[in-house]
Amino acid sequence: MKPAILSLKQGRERSVNNFHPWIFSGAVKNMPNVENGSIIGVVDDKGALLGYGFFSPNSQIVCRIFEFTNENLTFENQMYWTEKVKKAFLLRHSLLNFETTNAFRLLHAEGDFLPGVIADVYHDVIVMQLLIKGTEKILPFLLKAFEELGYKNVYLKNKENSFRFEEVDLTNGWLNGKKETSVFIKENGLTFEIDIENGQKTGFFLDQRENRALVRHYAKGRNVLNAFSYTGGFSVYAQAGGAASIDSVDISKDAMKHAHQNAVLNFGENTIHQSIPADCFDFLRKMPENKYNLIVLDPPAFAKNLRSVPNASRGYKDLNMIAMSKIAKNSLIFTFSCSQHIDSSLFRKIVFSAAADAKRNVRIIQQLSQCCDHPINIFHPESEYLKGLLLHIE
Ligand code: SAH
Repeated sequence: MKPAILSLKQGRERSVNNFHPWIFSGAVKNMPNVENGSIIGVVDDKGALLGYGFFSPNSQIVCRIFEFTNENLTFENQMYWTEKVKKAFLLRHSLLNFETTNAFRLLHAEGDFLPGVIADVYHDVIVMQLLIKGTEKILPFLLKAFEELGYKNVYLKNKENSFRFEEVDLTNGWLNGKKETSVFIKENGLTFEIDIENGQKTGFFLDQRENRALVRHYAKGRNVLNAFSYTGGFSVYAQAGGAASIDSVDISKDAMKHAHQNAVLNFGENTIHQSIPADCFDFLRKMPENKYNLIVLDPPAFAKNLRSVPNASRGYKDLNMIAMSKIAKNSLIFTFSCSQHIDSSLFRKIVFSAAADAKRNVRIIQQLSQCCDHPINIFHPESEYLKGLLLHIE
């Protein structure tokens, strides 16, 4: 079947010509009369074809382009989707060492030219998020492609918003195959238990893998505070790197239990790791000075939208200011923001003003980002969401 057509206003094809995948409602001259989730063609105001995308008539982003082309194509076609998934898999295969790491992001939405689809591999399980209706329609093709790669167990773990605003109808649960809720994975040779059904996001924060390895590299002999630790990713790496002490702090009691289990899993009952369930803002305000000389600050996204950026900025500044004020001399802070709406230059300004208030000599040792299996589509700067700084505090 030939896809329906959305036509753009004059001049509004410019961003599409630069391969930005999003069409905003204000750019549209004529909307197609088809249902939410249909695959549609996008043309300029003279009718020249620019590409194909998923239609989301109820969203501000009315179309997300997954194929830029001027050729007439149809997409009821297994080969097309298998090819896309295989390319994504081969990229991971070429970048990661599958002998020491068997958990990775296989599909990173726009970062893999597949808007609306997140797929994370945990050993023999794939956990998916389908963010828009269109992706629900191509799901059978994706499941088949996963099967061809050897992945038979697929769990859907959508966010509430996808059901409410994007009208994704599928319910969370096993789409294909079935496994226990708990899966053991290897990451850089360390072991973690992932709770597929009850964990946060898809189960683990795979985007921090390389930054965790950096913590391992710098942890020797240090007293480590892992703030917003979730299930203890950074903490396990810190012990593997020879830290002298490690405290994980998170507000979620389940995450705290799980973090300690992960430490035990790797180092036995004698692990030096401690889980402290607490609000990190409270914890940091009350902690004694000079106790720690390596702190990880990896809070959740404080800015969920543009409106919340000023409040979020204050939150990041407070956290960093308190940590910088109290940390011992000659220390390291790994500080992160995963808010899409706070870009790296704003984040750096926030950390700058925290350092100025803390009145410490602060230097940037390294600029950090998301892992290689979360590629940033250069035409879609929004795919860069995780930014971090490794700081030295004199
Ligand atoms: N660093 C982690 C991921 C952190 S995700 C990793 O590498 O796996 C953010 C975490 O912050 C979540 O686990 C959430 O429970 C926790 N959190 C959110 N608000 C918090 C608060 N005010 N105090 C402590 N923890 C909080």
